[in-house]
Amino acid sequence: MIKISPKELIDEVPDIQSVALPDNWFRTIDYDITIFKSLYNWMIKEGAVPKEFATQLHNMTYVGEVTYKKLLDAESKRIKKKYNLKEDALKKAVFRLDTGSGPISDIYNCRISGNCILVIPDASRSKLFSVVIKIFERENDKAISKIKNKAAGENFYQWLISQIERPDIIGAFAKEVKLDKEFPRDAEYCESIESYLGVHCHFLDAVEEAWIEYVSQYPQRVNPYAWCNECNQKINVEVAQIAICEEYGGVRVLCDSCVPKVSHRSLFCETPLFQITQEQLQNFTESHGLEGYEIASFIERLKIWGVFPLNETGFIYFIQSEDTRKIKIGYSVNPTDRVKTLQTGHSCPLRLLKIIPGDMKFERALHRKFFKFRVQGEWFEPHPDIIEYISKV
Ligand SMILES: [Zn+2]
Repeated sequence: MIKISPKELIDEVPDIQSVALPDNWFRTIDYDITIFKSLYNWMIKEGAVPKEFATQLHNMTYVGEVTYKKLLDAESKRIKKKYNLKEDALKKAVFRLDTGSGPISDIYNCRISGNCILVIPDASRSKLFSVVIKIFERENDKAISKIKNKAAGENFYQWLISQIERPDIIGAFAKEVKLDKEFPRDAEYCESIESYLGVHCHFLDAVEEAWIEYVSQYPQRVNPYAWCNECNQKINVEVAQIAICEEYGGVRVLCDSCVPKVSHRSLFCETPLFQITQEQLQNFTESHGLEGYEIASFIERLKIWGVFPLNETGFIYFIQSEDTRKIKIGYSVNPTDRVKTLQTGHSCPLRLLKIIPGDMKFERALHRKFFKFRVQGEWFEPHPDIIEYISKV
């Protein structure tokens, strides 16, 4: 379980009140009322919160794990003495009282560490949750990278099993795979695993993500290949063509024998798959109206096939239309060229606000983060949250 230091909450949550419980407090408690009631009464008496909050304190009081344990132990002792309950009956009674009137000890499965009592008014609660989510993500990332550093294996299956403890979707997928006796343990292609799992499997994103990580670590294990979207065969990259289907607008890869079958209903990219750059692909797909996420997932697929370099680090760019003030958040290997290309398709001037190092995964995370302000595609409202983010990052 992830732990949050009280200091971090005190620093970031507005109007938070820290209450120090004297060492001898537990010796002075009243055996006729619950320990929680004693605590809240004492807090009111100490002036930690206004009197009118008295009945809501169990929703406003947050305690560190040490304090929480002390409170539960004291309550257990009190009930035992007063009602002469034992074992399970005693535990149940404490649990009932705690859930009914005890203070809050975990927030989104994170626990506050140490000995502390914090009072957080309702108005600060949304800020509290955002601080906790931030800490949770940070700690989770730390735990993931620790396990990532130990990733190894002769093949994808072994590599995946080495990641079984990860607190993310790859760890969850590894657990499932370990139990699956039929899993294709010597699969050489990501597609072989995907077709084994089937289109309805909820781990398909995890397969892709894990595969990319695995191949980034051992790039020599994959020779660039492609998969024809028409005949579903593994094909040589040198004979693969990229096309946009006119019927439903999706981008696809075709082998040379399938090209004539669909040529009447597809628009072909002039550059074949093995020669195309990320820049050219982005321009081709965007000029045919493909959405950013579709392009990103297609590029990801090309990385899985070893067509595009896996470890390529590009940039996230933020540009603003001087006319509408809308902001575009995008990914590119060469952002200054990208802005020039975008400018030719725009009648009003575009201003480059910022460029930061990052990959497509990060770009997508940003799109998700600001989804409320999304206008269309990769364009967002110039909301203060986005402006603030750009200025700080
Ligand atoms: Zn084909």
